[in-house]
Amino acid sequence: MLTTNSTLLTEEKHKKEQEPIDFLLTKITDRDHKQLEFIQAVEEVFTDIKDFYYKNTEYQKAKILDRIVEPERVIIFRVPWVDDQGEVQVNRGFRVQFNSAIGPVKGGLRFHPSVNLGIIKFLGFEQIFKNALTGLQIGGGKGGADFDPKGKSDGEVMRFCQSFMTELFRHIGPNTDVPAGDIGVGSREIGFLFGQYKRIMNEFNGALTGKGINWGGSLIRPEATGYGSVYFAIEMLKIRDETIEGKTCIVSGSGNVAQYTVEKIIEFGGKVVTLSDSNGFIYDPNGIDHEKLEFVKWIKNTARGRISEYKEKYHDVEYTDTYLTPDYNPLWDIKADLAFPSATQNEINGKDAENMCKRGIYLISEGANMPCSMEAIKIFKENKILHAPGKAANAGGVAVSGLEMSQNSIRLNWTHEEVDHRLQQIMKNIHAKCLQYGLEGSYCNYFKGANISSFKKVADAMLEQGVV
Ligand code: NDP
Repeated sequence: MLTTNSTLLTEEKHKKEQEPIDFLLTKITDRDHKQLEFIQAVEEVFTDIKDFYYKNTEYQKAKILDRIVEPERVIIFRVPWVDDQGEVQVNRGFRVQFNSAIGPVKGGLRFHPSVNLGIIKFLGFEQIFKNALTGLQIGGGKGGADFDPKGKSDGEVMRFCQSFMTELFRHIGPNTDVPAGDIGVGSREIGFLFGQYKRIMNEFNGALTGKGINWGGSLIRPEATGYGSVYFAIEMLKIRDETIEGKTCIVSGSGNVAQYTVEKIIEFGGKVVTLSDSNGFIYDPNGIDHEKLEFVKWIKNTARGRISEYKEKYHDVEYTDTYLTPDYNPLWDIKADLAFPSATQNEINGKDAENMCKRGIYLISEGANMPCSMEAIKIFKENKILHAPGKAANAGGVAVSGLEMSQNSIRLNWTHEEVDHRLQQIMKNIHAKCLQYGLEGSYCNYFKGANISSFKKVADAMLEQGVV
């Protein structure tokens, strides 16, 4: 009783002292204080849309922000499965259906030991705005489990996926919620998940995207996030009358997004000198060419090995173990022109950001979701770095997932050229939307542009649909 009273008193005090948006952020921070990544994602959006929100009083009256930070539905469930030794294992599964104002919920599934509700909520919250930017009819959500596919046999991964879907199936569907892949969920996992979904439902439909090309998948879906991130960088460079040709690029990660980012950069004549995983990174001053990239794909997708194996095969390559420098990542201290962070959230902190500015980086296209800390974002802004947020730069993945849904609905498959052309057009449109709301003199604040443009679209839909 005492606690409740004092909480209410503190709330009243905050309400009087703070502007409505700051008060809301304080309320979220108090209530969801353990969900650090979610709070960070909310703060980033609030910072950029504040002035726009206050100017549009109808949003305030309808309490759009109070509603948008609250998921429509959160599902948490037990995922029991049996490992190869016959032992019972239990993981925790999540699906956060955040916002369906502009279409069925859509967003990937992440299987990684670090997954918790705060991470899934941050990803789901970001997804609302990202999906709005694509111009397609898709709402935002995310899901996953604290399951680590690394080191598991195919049989174990299959049994886990089947158990996960045995609960998830009742919450998803082509017009309700359409999951896809993310960290730890690639074509193998989507295959097992879809197989179980189809078996339980006795129906073949488009409730998942990232499907195999022979069973409802779209061409260019595996490539889409990485390709899209490079297409976005090309648009950013156009403003300076520049191209990727001859530019030195640093890329982090070595999974799906990183691989296809490298592929596209090579195609446009850029030189990629780094790749990483959660243990360390390789620096190849000669550049990663097509043959070396094929080897990386084999290591990561087939052998399911580590990026350190790259050094064992190629000469003049340095491998650095990043466990040795927990406060900063020396990958971001390499001299280059362009950066494509494509591993995970908060992989660039303030110190890394300072190093990047010193080392000549002038453009960052975020393949990963929220790879930069708030401090890093601030440093890039102060240094007038061209910096595209993940919700804009990596939206190509969900955009082609949206195109997969369209193809499933009309039961037709578009050609490679057609999907790629649509993807390029979508990335150009997103870039134009960022410019529309993000120009500050001759500098484009891509974060502000992306946040205001997408917020407006979702907020208007929410207004028109009443208090639901
Ligand atoms: P993958 O699982 O294919 O690859 C992830 C890569 O990031 C691996 O190299 C992995 O290394 C590394 N990584 C993961 N966690 C950490 C960590 N805590 N510290 C350092 N490195 C880490 O995932 P994706 O390529 O699909 O996803 C990468 C990023 O892109 C994520 O932020 C994801 O949310 C985002 N994204 C993905 C989309 C998609 O279509 N797949 C769409 C939009 C965004 P290791 O092998 O050691 O785990």
